[in-house]
Amino acid sequence: MQSTKLADVCYDIRGPVLVEAKRLEEQGHRILKLNIGNPAPFGFSAPDEILVDVIRNLSDAEGYSDSQGLLSARTAIVSHYQDRGLDTSVTVDDVWLGNGVSELIVMALQAMLNNGDEVLVPAPDYPLWTAATSLAGGTPVHYRCDESEGWLPDLDDLRAKISARTKAIVLINPNNPTGAVYPRPLLEDLAEIARQHSLTVLADEIYDKILYDDASHVPFAVIAPDLFTLTFNGLSKAYRLAGFRAGWLLAGAPKSHAANYLEGLTILANMRLCANVPAQHAIQTALGGRQSIRDLVLPGGRLLEQRDAAVSALRAIPGVSCVEPKGALYVFPRLDPEVYPIVDDQRFVLDFLRDQHVLLVQGTGFNWPTPDHLRIVTLPHVEVLTEAIGRLGTFLADGGAD
Ligand code: PLP
Repeated sequence: MQSTKLADVCYDIRGPVLVEAKRLEEQGHRILKLNIGNPAPFGFSAPDEILVDVIRNLSDAEGYSDSQGLLSARTAIVSHYQDRGLDTSVTVDDVWLGNGVSELIVMALQAMLNNGDEVLVPAPDYPLWTAATSLAGGTPVHYRCDESEGWLPDLDDLRAKISARTKAIVLINPNNPTGAVYPRPLLEDLAEIARQHSLTVLADEIYDKILYDDASHVPFAVIAPDLFTLTFNGLSKAYRLAGFRAGWLLAGAPKSHAANYLEGLTILANMRLCANVPAQHAIQTALGGRQSIRDLVLPGGRLLEQRDAAVSALRAIPGVSCVEPKGALYVFPRLDPEVYPIVDDQRFVLDFLRDQHVLLVQGTGFNWPTPDHLRIVTLPHVEVLTEAIGRLGTFLADGGAD
């Protein structure tokens, strides 16, 4: 019955491991779910001003909106990026609002790819990019990010994987699952590659405000104003509003040779009528208000403390190493294969779940090629995170990886 279009489509974050976690919950077990970057269940609430504004606007949100989205939200998005240095030629007509970034990723690739077109996707990646490329008939080609270089993209590997069929490069910065934040010179080099090969850059910047230590983020569209770039962002993470499903896509200049592509994108946007309208009302207030995420990531902030606790608890386990994330909400530790010879990391995650009642996601679920990494969200309080990672240490010490 299932369409063959889904044959290569895989999204393990909510896959078989979550099904097993639900089964255990139904049996009465309490499962600690560290598999999804959903801030609200961990006690992170959205700024009050956003909620108040959405409630005030509810009676104006009963009808469909324009397919591209409310003008007030799109105006706020354009001025937000212009404040960050974006080319002033970008206008409200270059913004599409969606039900989260997820919907826009699917639409952007559906509008772009013919069967067999290739998209360069990082490994590891946020797996929706690989899945949505396959669903659109494209072929995801993974370029390596180098753990020994703080998980920065290996541009030689990326260059070597460009073919006559390559259409676009996906850039996830700050990165999920690794937490890497890319320095400006690397982005400039990447822009040069895109320029030489006439590739569109798909910049997923949903974690752009979740930055630790001295990390700073520059939108790719600002680095390369001469390239056609699609920038993706939304309210799910920095504004703790994942359930509202509010995201945007901004098409950066120049659009002359992309007019036909943008017409296609508009057809897809029209077909789904519009994004959730109450949530669109949140965007202007979110971007224009006080950026309260800073309280969470600066010294003394909850997210920073949790990142630190997760990294040190992991590094205390023999045979486990962890690059310190500079952004986002995850750690992506390595289990030394010499010490822990894991053959099937999904099986490992399932065994750990059944034994210790903690749900993580296996590294191969992020299209990492070898079964030697795990992704853990750093959203729980320090005590909970330390407890969960301690249970991982116990499980490993008891031979759980054998
Ligand atoms: N892009 C990345 C890198 C993500 O990590 C996520 C969610 O975890 C998304 C996109 C999807 O976000 P949204 O809630 O806006 O659909």
